[in-house]
Amino acid sequence: MTQQEAATRFLTWLDLQVLSAGRGDRLTELSVEPRGRFWLGRLASEEAVVASGLGERGERLDPCAVGIRVRPFGCPPWTFIAEASACVWVRGSATAWRKCPPIRTQVQITLDGEEGDYEFGRAQLADALRSSCGEEGLACSVRAEVRRDLSSRMELTVMLVNASPRNLPSLKDTNLYECALKVTGLSTEPFILDSLPDSFRYDRRVPAYGINSAVQLTEDGVLVTTDVVTADKPRPRYWSVGDAAPDLAFVNLAVSPLASLTRLAEAHANWGRSVWTPAVLDDRSAKGSWSSAMRDQADVAASEFWAENRRLLDGLELLRSNPPLLRAFTLMNRAIGYAANGKYVAWRPFQIGFMLANLACIASADNDAETADLVWFATGGGKTETYLGLLVTAALYDRLRGKLSGVTAWSRFPLRMLSLQQTQRFADAMAGAERVRRDERIAGDPFSVGFLVGQGATPNSIPEEAQPGGPDPEDDAMPERYRVLLKCPFCHENSITMAFDRRYWRLGHRCSNEGCPWPERQLPFYIVDDEIYRFLPTVIVGTLDKAASIAMQAGMRCLVGSPLGICSEDGHGYVYAPRSKKPNGCLVPGCKASPVGLSGGVELCAPTFRLQDELHLLKDSLGAVDAHYESLLDHLESEIAGRKPKILASSATLAGYERQINLLYRRNARVFPVQGPSSEQGFWTSASSDLARRYVAVAPRGVTIEYAVDRTVTELQGAVRRLRTEPRAGCAEAGVEARWADYLLSVYGVNVVYGNTLSDLDAVARSLETQVNVTGRLNTASLTGRTDFEDVRVTLGRLEKAEPDFDERLHVVAASSMMSHGVDIDRLNIMVMLGVPLTASEFIQATARVGRAWPGLVYVMHKIARERDASVFRSFEKFVQQGDRFVEPIPITRRSRRVLEKTAAGIELARILAVHEAAAGEALTTVSKLRAYFVRTGVTADSELATVIQLMGFDSDLDESLRNDLKRWFRRFFENLMEPGGAFQFPAELSPTGKPMRSLRDVDEEAPILGV
Ligand SMILES: [Zn+2]
Ligand SMILES: [Zn+2]
Repeated sequence: MTQQEAATRFLTWLDLQVLSAGRGDRLTELSVEPRGRFWLGRLASEEAVVASGLGERGERLDPCAVGIRVRPFGCPPWTFIAEASACVWVRGSATAWRKCPPIRTQVQITLDGEEGDYEFGRAQLADALRSSCGEEGLACSVRAEVRRDLSSRMELTVMLVNASPRNLPSLKDTNLYECALKVTGLSTEPFILDSLPDSFRYDRRVPAYGINSAVQLTEDGVLVTTDVVTADKPRPRYWSVGDAAPDLAFVNLAVSPLASLTRLAEAHANWGRSVWTPAVLDDRSAKGSWSSAMRDQADVAASEFWAENRRLLDGLELLRSNPPLLRAFTLMNRAIGYAANGKYVAWRPFQIGFMLANLACIASADNDAETADLVWFATGGGKTETYLGLLVTAALYDRLRGKLSGVTAWSRFPLRMLSLQQTQRFADAMAGAERVRRDERIAGDPFSVGFLVGQGATPNSIPEEAQPGGPDPEDDAMPERYRVLLKCPFCHENSITMAFDRRYWRLGHRCSNEGCPWPERQLPFYIVDDEIYRFLPTVIVGTLDKAASIAMQAGMRCLVGSPLGICSEDGHGYVYAPRSKKPNGCLVPGCKASPVGLSGGVELCAPTFRLQDELHLLKDSLGAVDAHYESLLDHLESEIAGRKPKILASSATLAGYERQINLLYRRNARVFPVQGPSSEQGFWTSASSDLARRYVAVAPRGVTIEYAVDRTVTELQGAVRRLRTEPRAGCAEAGVEARWADYLLSVYGVNVVYGNTLSDLDAVARSLETQVNVTGRLNTASLTGRTDFEDVRVTLGRLEKAEPDFDERLHVVAASSMMSHGVDIDRLNIMVMLGVPLTASEFIQATARVGRAWPGLVYVMHKIARERDASVFRSFEKFVQQGDRFVEPIPITRRSRRVLEKTAAGIELARILAVHEAAAGEALTTVSKLRAYFVRTGVTADSELATVIQLMGFDSDLDESLRNDLKRWFRRFFENLMEPGGAFQFPAELSPTGKPMRSLRDVDEEAPILGV
């Protein structure tokens, strides 16, 4: 038995424990009321449901019926057998309940096809109940509804209903338990889901719908209701086509990549000829009853596939014809080999395919900048490494063509708290590149990484005099608070120490490992904003909101162009516009040295790439604000460096990406890879037979969702702990070999409880402490937007590397959407989700945190009274298996006047800092200096207005009101500026709409707030 098989089997067993506990299968006696105990399989009395007055909601919360809805096949009459199962709990005394023998009764049904409502088996079932519990009065029946749908096709609903009265003097509880309905002998045909975009890729058939339950259709045509809906998601396979897989090992591609890459492109074309030709599509169209629109969509997709093939061939040709590019590419493979450190040794085909298809943006003069390229791949597929490969190639190519210093890429995450794991991967990749640069004696600055995030996580600067709550250079404990790296990126050891170096005014990470290949004291990793401006890291990773600083910090100029000079003092780095406390523009406090100018190649200094991770999160107000700032950044880079950067983005979802990219970046959108011709079939990925995640939809009946969550966690923890107390017996029961006990305890010993609101999570945290009753300790932690940066790091560390003693480990983590991105931990394999998230993309992202290396189990506890949760429950299998189709297009606009009011000040002040001040050659930090400069050079409200309208692209008729708003804004800004003896001292005060935003999140959030 392989580890994978053992894990799958254990997970199946775990799930069964939870399910049985939810229904009470294995219990025959109880000391508490069964109605307060079980959350599955029960049916309330119909009379009680009606009396509740809650209508359909009440029916979903505590249903009195379960059943199935089908489309009968063939002409009526329809004759079949409905088998009803149920059992009754009776009370002996207040603390002694007893389960009666279950009933299983077959009812013969014949329907003549007339529309109407029918009832069967009432007397027969009442008899069965009476003989089971020995009391009169309980009742249930099988009901059938025959209806025609909108297209006059017959639909048949068969239900088991608890027809007992609400109260019976002789019985304390008129609920029926462990209820199920089985239908035998009825032929059915599937429902066809309405067509949605791209529907030619998906199987649209649904064999049957459940009523307050799910339905299982067995191979011999028997339909059975089930208490939960289970949907499995297979792990992807990365090579499944007929041709032999090319050798994509780093060691091979580092030496002679062309042969393997040629084979890859050929296999791609061969596969295309087998699935994307008109004949094949015609055949599928006929079999799948496609509409002509679907058939047309398939033709469009086929042409996209061949365009992708063309890009692969173009990339190959570039490598053949451009020796420095080929060298950069081979060296990149060596670098990634170092970075991977044996954890993986080869690329997945799609990763190398993406790089090949995008080499043009490195090698071409214009960066191919008019197109934004999107890498789309299921989470966990290795998106980050994919664009890291491209960035390392670009950075090496930059050095080879003479860019010896400066930023190659600025990579942004949308969340306030960017993932430390992602940052580590960036550091590892660039450290690999730096080792290669040294091996090969390539000239230039060391490759390095900067970490640029909002205040609070890391400092903007280290002042000589500490501010309250800010970093204090005299405090020995200060450096450790700002630690970001988990491991040394050069030697991969847990050898990081933090230190502040007064001489060079640097707060840095150091490696204490004697054998580390990095020879210097400080690692080339910058976490203080000022140090980023001083040293221009090759790659800057950070959060999107930081872009707001472009209007306030002169040093942000390095993200759109070059610094203004370099300090003559050793180790001080680049300088920017002078300030009163930085008279020569050097950012080291108290520096009096004089700067020297930059030598040539200024345009090379500007970043070649701006990257956006998790693009789908740029929506609502954040998306609108960012759209304005992206235009600003493009404008500034064009002004300073005479070019636009390339935009690369990654997204977990594709719905409406063209429009989103167009609005955000004013560029065309292109996606890699093109999706295969069906949801199961693709060149770059297809389904394997291994389980990635099992999703279980639960609609708790008759109890609160919090109670069901507590009980589920209790059962999961109780079951897994048997591996510790009695490993042999526990393994035997689960059907796995005992040698896997420790491993299973490690990978299934942690439960993530995922909540969509902070109040949900608070409730979870409270009840975990009191309601979850297990033997041994239950250690919990939180990962939410409110969790301290340092606590996040500690928690992730503990999850990654479990303590040897189970009692010391974390057992339950209460998490919010804050952990739905970028957390990649092999030990997270069980999640209990409290309610269906607001968007399908969050559902996809969040649940992808579990089951990354081993089979995962996700309980989705539906807040079933809510319409959205109920609708997801009804089509849960498709929701999981065809999740992409359920993803809502991203709500975004750039034409918001409310947002423009917020962004206008930042746009103009950034222009003053980055464009005017640099041209002035002196500080323009006071109103009088700015006024003098504008008068001297003829800058007016009209000239600034025209520039800003152009940079924002507000040039259509629809933009009239935005143009007018800007016009008013500039008129008032210049009136304030020119007012003689006015009350204004600093340029930011001139803005009629307030100071520039300090973070891109400073908008009144009426939309859902990210990263709660
Ligand atoms: Zn090291
Ligand atoms: Zn200096």
